[in-house]
Amino acid sequence: MKNPSRSSWVARPRMRAAAIAALLVGIFVFDTGTNLEIAGAVFYVVVILLAIGLLSTRGVVALAAFCVLLTLVSFALTPSGARGAGLANSAISIAAIGITAYLGVKRAAAEAAAYEARSQLVRMARMTNLGAFTASIAHEVNQPLAAVVTSANASLRWLDQDPPNLDRARRSVDRIIADANRASAVIARLRGLARREPPRRERINLNEVIAEAVTLARQELGRNGISLQLDLATDVPPVLADRIQMQQVLGNLLLNAIEAMEAVPVARRGLEVRSFQEGSGRVAFAVEDSGVGLPAEMQAHLFEAFWTTKPGGMGMGLAICQSIVESHGGHIAAAPRLRGGAVFQVSLPAEEVRHERA
Ligand code: ADP
Repeated sequence: MKNPSRSSWVARPRMRAAAIAALLVGIFVFDTGTNLEIAGAVFYVVVILLAIGLLSTRGVVALAAFCVLLTLVSFALTPSGARGAGLANSAISIAAIGITAYLGVKRAAAEAAAYEARSQLVRMARMTNLGAFTASIAHEVNQPLAAVVTSANASLRWLDQDPPNLDRARRSVDRIIADANRASAVIARLRGLARREPPRRERINLNEVIAEAVTLARQELGRNGISLQLDLATDVPPVLADRIQMQQVLGNLLLNAIEAMEAVPVARRGLEVRSFQEGSGRVAFAVEDSGVGLPAEMQAHLFEAFWTTKPGGMGMGLAICQSIVESHGGHIAAAPRLRGGAVFQVSLPAEEVRHERA
């Protein structure tokens, strides 16, 4: 197996080939020139060892056969010594050459297989990263785009009415603008991510982010007959966070909650969003739904990338939420709700605490 980090002459193929040729000649001359009691041919194992990694398996086998041939020729040409001892020495040398070639070729094959497996793993890791990145872009942009299409259809319906309802149509167009801006902000953030820009940190009030995300989701909530309860603590301290990323987290949680309630009767569909201070120096918000709930076996997988139970799902939403929250020094957790449904809770360090640590 070639090892590019080795810098000695052994790593240089031409020098190694020259050394092999010189050794072949030297050993042959020595073995033929000395009497039969001296097993000079045993040094051919050095030639075989040098050839492993330089020649292919076939090349090593051919070289070993050539060494055996030279051993026999030397035995025939050596003029002096006891023939019995010479025969035994030749047999030992031939066995040593054969065993060395066999073990060397086997080891080289095993190293080649290990190298191949390693490069396969590296290739796979790269593909997975690329796949995850592409999926995350698709996921984040798809949400506002779907909302744009819904609002555009609604606005066409308002305009088609006789007389046209211009006020409602204008409101739909306002939503289109807000969603389009959201999509372009997501793309701008992803571009920043690709350039490894650090996420923007600004002083934000989580209640405001919740209010914005809920406004964006209000139409979907209405369309699905979901009642909404907001329970926002007035005294939550600010957090240092990337506003767009926090909107993404909330947007994902709200969307998941809406989808989880599709299977329950309309009368039982309810969403609650709460914000509160958690212990000292932490701010938390929770999204509670009355949907299908979280069986114990699901909880272990929720935040895994590409894990989904939805036919058209991508399984990236919660994985992205978790990486965003953790990059802010926060924590996200999910639990079944006692009355049925699920609770997703995010807690973040309040601004003062982050200052103290910095
Ligand atoms: P996706 O929505 O594309 O499936 P997510 O990572 O957002 O990807 O969610 C992964 C899975 O977690 C979902 O397929 C669903 O099974 C489960 N899940 C997420 N949110 C909820 C929820 N509020 N209630 C029940 N199950 C949920």
